[in-house]
Amino acid sequence: MIAVRWGSATHPGMVRHANEDRFHAGSGIFVVADGMGGHAAGEVASQLAVDEFARLASATTNGGAALHPGAIRHALARANDAIVAAANESEARRGMGTTLVGLAVVEDVGRGRLLAFNLGDSRLYRVQAGSFEQLSVDHSQAQELVEAGVITAAERHAHPLSNVLTRALGHGPYPRADYWLIDPHPGDRFLLCSDGLSVELTDGQIHLALIAPADPDRVAADLVQLAVEAGGRDNITVVVVDVLPG
Ligand code: MN
Repeated sequence: MIAVRWGSATHPGMVRHANEDRFHAGSGIFVVADGMGGHAAGEVASQLAVDEFARLASATTNGGAALHPGAIRHALARANDAIVAAANESEARRGMGTTLVGLAVVEDVGRGRLLAFNLGDSRLYRVQAGSFEQLSVDHSQAQELVEAGVITAAERHAHPLSNVLTRALGHGPYPRADYWLIDPHPGDRFLLCSDGLSVELTDGQIHLALIAPADPDRVAADLVQLAVEAGGRDNITVVVVDVLPG
């Protein structure tokens, strides 16, 4: 089985009173959810999503069995159903939803691998043997403009459509997540984060913080601190996962 260690940090930022980001880290399942919707509905949606993965994590730990990729798909479907049902309960929650980016230790055809999954514009990055890359693809209108060549990636965050999502959990009857099966290598470091981090810091700043020879908790705290110092215009949540020698 793949051994990992991890760290996490979250902060409401310097502008918003409430923190509508939620995360789960542990038992081989790591998720960050950034809720949206007025009247505190955003934190209801992100909490419902994270609760579903926390339940899956505790069932996996208690059962002692390896997690299969299908279990992640099912958890996403249950989380989506829970958010849609809660949204239908009250007018104030109409339209609420959440991003969700995740990384899970799974067993695929007898082999330990990592399954990454994403809906929305929270992100997954990886540092591997010194190279730094964003593995997830944002589901936002601004990202579509980047892919169409209308704006550059650097212009994305300043664009008025930057935070208009094209996919989210709780929007529609089925979650349309992207999935990636990843072969982990000892020394790989993964970062899951809400957009409160990626709007404040450049890829270069994120890369530099990630390659620090520090434990994941320290790196997570440092990243959040950097985003707060850069303005902290949104809630900031960070989970750092290190792959250990097997
Ligand atoms: Mn956000």
